[in-house]
Amino acid sequence: MVSLPEELEALKRFHGHLGPYVVIGHRMGQIGRERFPNNIWAVVFTGTKRPLSCTVDGIQFSSQCTLGKGNITVREENTVKAEFFDEKRLLSIELAEGIRERIDATTAKDNEELIALDLYMANPTDLFKITEGESAQTGRVLKLK
Ligand SMILES: [Zn+2]
Repeated sequence: MVSLPEELEALKRFHGHLGPYVVIGHRMGQIGRERFPNNIWAVVFTGTKRPLSCTVDGIQFSSQCTLGKGNITVREENTVKAEFFDEKRLLSIELAEGIRERIDATTAKDNEELIALDLYMANPTDLFKITEGESAQTGRVLKLK
């Protein structure tokens, strides 16, 4: 058994198991929430098929974007990418080159927690490509006026 930090134990209880993509989502959600501490919406591009869709639970866990509040949308694009935004700005977070391939080639039932822990400890700049832009919401609001 891998010894897990309390935060990951809580994530595991929430999600049902601890694999790489729920941790990826958790970290994406943290970055998103830090950038948008007040109003926040999320669009996740993983689709609804496991294991990529595990990302969605990680994002819900840490970003306060949840299905129940209606401020998260999942798109069927089979890509480990999320966009967080408020009324003005948008933050796009996607996996850095080669990370998904490495996860998919190495993860199995008996080592998934170890790989999850590794991803939890990894430097965000090694893990993600993060870009900032203008929120599409801004466009929508402007068009309405
Ligand atoms: Zn999962």
